[in-house]
Amino acid sequence: MTTKPNIRDLSLEELEALIVGLGKEKYRARQIMKWLYAGGATTFAEMTTLARDFRSRMEGITRIVEPAIDRILVSQDGTKKLLFSLEDGLFIESVLIPGRNHWTACISTQAGCAMECRFCLTGRQGLKRNLQPSEITGQVTMLRRHTPEGPQIKNIVLMGMGEPLANYNHTVKAIRILTSDFGLGFSSRKITVSTCGLAPKIAQLGKEVCVNLAISLNAPDNERRDVLMPVNRKYPLEELIRACRDYPMPGRRMLTFEYILMAGLNDSPADAEKLARLLRGLHCKLNLIAFNEFPGSDYRTPAPEAISAFQQILLDRHYTAILRASHGRDILAACGQLSGHAPSFA
Ligand code: SF4
Repeated sequence: MTTKPNIRDLSLEELEALIVGLGKEKYRARQIMKWLYAGGATTFAEMTTLARDFRSRMEGITRIVEPAIDRILVSQDGTKKLLFSLEDGLFIESVLIPGRNHWTACISTQAGCAMECRFCLTGRQGLKRNLQPSEITGQVTMLRRHTPEGPQIKNIVLMGMGEPLANYNHTVKAIRILTSDFGLGFSSRKITVSTCGLAPKIAQLGKEVCVNLAISLNAPDNERRDVLMPVNRKYPLEELIRACRDYPMPGRRMLTFEYILMAGLNDSPADAEKLARLLRGLHCKLNLIAFNEFPGSDYRTPAPEAISAFQQILLDRHYTAILRASHGRDILAACGQLSGHAPSFA
């Protein structure tokens, strides 16, 4: 038995081809997309601008499936962590981070992750599978439905579970739906892809979609980055920084480098100096994040004085270096703490 395709996995072009194949007008694809994304339709019955027999035919050959919200945890700081269940029983997590008048949605692109970054809870579980485009965009549509009133979701960061560029095709397809007028209508300036450093894919992304880029850096030299982030053995810092220099950021926006400070490992004044030299000449900002300890983690949070001294060295060298407050620490929703495990919601 073949499973009917999930219509939410299709690009506009794929849906147009399917509809033309049924002998219907191509523009019907846009109408369906609008019902799905702007209209929030979850059944063909709701798509009342389409003829009844056409809706039945579509229902006969496709299905409409989104991830389902299984549980929600709310942090003391207002951050919400949502556990989603997928059709095959896997779980993934998204995080809603409160801003002054908006939410930022941090979404996942894979169930688990193969990149094995040593400081990351997701990396410990290995890769279960890539998410489908519908499972990536579906987190946003479900989060929107969860926040119907009050502040809206303005920013989307692909920084949850998984390495977005290791699920490249589905991530790009999802970004096209997130940013198109027939889809969710987000500005590409409001979307950020975060990568551990798959240099060739960074170049490809720059050519295909114009979104903000964040690099999870975490070490100022290859020696330590090789240990902390095994991806560095394949794409060392020189190659990564070259790809960053060539990346066409939207407008005059800055690249972001995320740097998780770990006590005694990468947080010394000498490390800050080295980092400043590494990034010299790049139009970038640095997000400094104190390591979020989790049960069984090998690394420790640095002392506040060490963090301030590190930041000051970068500021003195005219970098924009922001100390990021970690949101949702009490519910394991902060950077590197997502596991997609139902038990972490118990
Ligand atoms: S930090 Fe990101 S890329 Fe690295 S293991 Fe965790 S989820 Fe994967």
